[in-house]
Amino acid sequence: DIVGQMQQGASNILVAVRCRPLTKKEKEIDDTNLIQIIEERVVLLLDPQFKYGDKGSRAKEKQYAFDYAFDENALQKDIFDKTTNFLIDGVLNGYNATVFAYGATGAGKTYTMLGEVNSPGLMLMTFIELFTKVEKLTLERAYKVKLSYLEIYNEVVKDLIHPTTSVLDIREDPVKGIVVAGLAELMATSPDEVIECLQLGNMRRTCEPTEANQTSSRSHAVLQITVEYKDKASGTESEIIVGKLSLIDLAGSERASHTKNRGIRLIEGANINRSLLALGNCINALCEATERGGKVYIPYRDSKLTRLLKDSLGGNCRTVMIACISPYSGSFFDTSNTLKYANRAK
Ligand code: ADP
Ligand code: MG
Repeated sequence: DIVGQMQQGASNILVAVRCRPLTKKEKEIDDTNLIQIIEERVVLLLDPQFKYGDKGSRAKEKQYAFDYAFDENALQKDIFDKTTNFLIDGVLNGYNATVFAYGATGAGKTYTMLGEVNSPGLMLMTFIELFTKVEKLTLERAYKVKLSYLEIYNEVVKDLIHPTTSVLDIREDPVKGIVVAGLAELMATSPDEVIECLQLGNMRRTCEPTEANQTSSRSHAVLQITVEYKDKASGTESEIIVGKLSLIDLAGSERASHTKNRGIRLIEGANINRSLLALGNCINALCEATERGGKVYIPYRDSKLTRLLKDSLGGNCRTVMIACISPYSGSFFDTSNTLKYANRAK
């Protein structure tokens, strides 16, 4: 399986799809479900133009296979266990990893990453597991867990923990790797503390009404968990080992043209697409590098998001993409685009 392959170093990217349930409102308008998931791997997308029973129905369906495909019944815990839990040991041993949720606004990205009151998402479950593992290792190792939470909005980096008016700069430090100058780093000691920090941070995300969506999320939210340790046995001389896990709730992937936006909104759309496009291009280049086994140019510098992730994508870093989709007939084009984007990342 994919996790086994990743642990052996044969693959560094896992691509999963998660389909959310139809909402009550959607059901009232059209309860057709366009998505069928087969054996937790294959996604069938039905074309809503097609009338059931017509001949040639197969031509109206698109089929995609992924490492995992989760249907509307999948629990937050299932998603965590299959896509994120296995990354934690690596991070505790000094490796970097990235998990991101991709998809149109309303497809379930925030539900997956942050979660809701009675169904915490990947961010919180990661902390709970991380703290449990750190506890078990305290005899041998002295760990420090730090977190930062930022958004990239319009290609500008903003702190979601300690908001400031100044624009934050992404720099490359020869020792520390990629750093965001002036970004708050919180020493995390318990999951409860972390929840509060994430919820507060999420409320600070830039969300503004557009024609298509009242609370369209036009920012990329990036939670970075940095884990440092020193071996206790080797005393004061011992080296500090640092691992980093980035958990990202990407901005909606719907195209600017869909929302009939004008002026500033259109510029925002272009910037969002720039980061998403750059992310897609970097991932495709990395896949190519793995396939060919040679050196391939990775265009990290093309956007803020990919510059920030330069030390967390590629090399021996593990990357997980969770493509979120809706089964609603009215979301057909977004769903189709998301499946294509995810399919290119394999
Ligand atoms: P996004 O962040 O991609 O814009 P949200 O995560 O806010 O989308 O999800 C949109 C709506 O769908 C929310 O009301 C959320 O509660 C609901 N939702 C999303 N995913 C699921 C799921 N897997 N199960 C139940 N409800 C979900
Ligand atoms: Mg959201």
